Amino acid sequence: MAQLVIYNSLSRQKEPFVPLHPPYVGMYVCGPTVSGESHLGHARPYVFFDVVFRWLRHLGYQVRYVRNITDAGHFEEEDRPAEDKVVAKAKLERLEPMELVQKYTNLFHDAMDQLNNLRPSIEPTATGHIIEQIAMIEEILRQGWAYEVNGSVYFDVVRYAQQYDYGRLSGRRLEELLAGSRELEGQEEKRHPADFALWKKAPPEHLMRWPSPWGQGFPGWHIECSAMATKYLGAPFDIHGGGMDLQFPHHESEIAQTRIATGHIPARYWMHNNMITVNGRKMGKSYNNTITLRELFTGTHPLLERAYDPMTVRFFILQAHYRSTLDFNNDALKAAEKGLERLLQAMALLQRLQHPGGGGETETDKKIRELLTSCADHLNDDFNTALTLASLFELASYIFSWHNRQADLSDIRAETLSLLQLQFPYYVTDILGLKASDHSHGERLERVLQILIDLRNQARQRKDFALADSIRQQLMQVGIALKDEKEGTRWEWV
Ligand code: ZN
Repeated sequence: MAQLVIYNSLSRQKEPFVPLHPPYVGMYVCGPTVSGESHLGHARPYVFFDVVFRWLRHLGYQVRYVRNITDAGHFEEEDRPAEDKVVAKAKLERLEPMELVQKYTNLFHDAMDQLNNLRPSIEPTATGHIIEQIAMIEEILRQGWAYEVNGSVYFDVVRYAQQYDYGRLSGRRLEELLAGSRELEGQEEKRHPADFALWKKAPPEHLMRWPSPWGQGFPGWHIECSAMATKYLGAPFDIHGGGMDLQFPHHESEIAQTRIATGHIPARYWMHNNMITVNGRKMGKSYNNTITLRELFTGTHPLLERAYDPMTVRFFILQAHYRSTLDFNNDALKAAEKGLERLLQAMALLQRLQHPGGGGETETDKKIRELLTSCADHLNDDFNTALTLASLFELASYIFSWHNRQADLSDIRAETLSLLQLQFPYYVTDILGLKASDHSHGERLERVLQILIDLRNQARQRKDFALADSIRQQLMQVGIALKDEKEGTRWEWV
């Protein structure tokens, strides 16, 4: 089996994966900002890094997977139209920001469960780590790489860039950053437009606030991840992941902060999944195409023709390479639904196949073993789930041809069938995390048909041929034919 290689965004090439402290692996993935509902853009990184987590564990590593919850910031502003200040104040007093944060955290967890993502080892919240963030900011200030202005603290990007390669991860140059800085707030306080906030002074109406050496305020977004990753994984740790849109300014800033505070670039391998589009367009408010996961699973967004099962969404995400863009549209999702159903049906049929006995080693034996090995090889090649699925579909074709009697099971040895029966469902279920969900048909249809076949056989045994024929004819009307053979009754689509 091939050695695991990972495409490292920092070096822009594939590198062999060598953990810093085997068998332990530390992985940090930037979690959601829970100021609103999780949307399509959240599904992709968390499904993909879930497979990374599963595969690393399969390889025998003891993985500590940390995925944070960003729950500090300007959340009390959400859904609030500008209105009379007194009324607004009254509302503000009734609104507990943590209530909002809890609501969206719960919805996020529900969506992650539906997508069959394993829970991370640690899920720290930004509000639960204010002390660690303040300590890190104090260390950066002590070393002279940040400055305080009027109760806010900013990181000195210009000084940092003179000594270190700021922009290395995102491939940006400081001159571009000067021109393109989008952080409008505090511009007049900063020495330089590219500097970013480590701590912000809280205006009087700001509800989420904490005491600090610089007065009442709240942390900047980037310092949250630096502080939580360092606390639970140390510095450096092995893998840092997230969406490509986080490379700048978030991860670039994380690298700068952690390097100053600890002397190390936070992670050895940086992995970024590419972005998604909806009907060919970038997701955004102006296109009204930001589809929440709840809308996707219930089919309630105007761009959706109907609901799509979370397992269909998971399959759809894994069918693409994580470093390619992925377009969500109705046709693609419907095709994914069919593909997943076929895969799950093959998995169900496989378990019912019985080897007739005998037979020597053939080309088919060799091919089945090669395809199974290729699943591991593809995953070891930078987690290529797209090619892994392609191999599984080739195997599914063999399974269908045996089931339909187009090929003979005696073409392979009993050992090969056993190996397939063990490994095929392992890759589908344990590694890719795909399963028959409540709405999917594959495995469920198989079970229902087995019930009907058993009932018909019981009817025949007690010579109730009218009932037996009725079952057969009614199944025929929905396009399912029963075939009585000496090994028993099997079914096939007409
Ligand atoms: Zn982060």
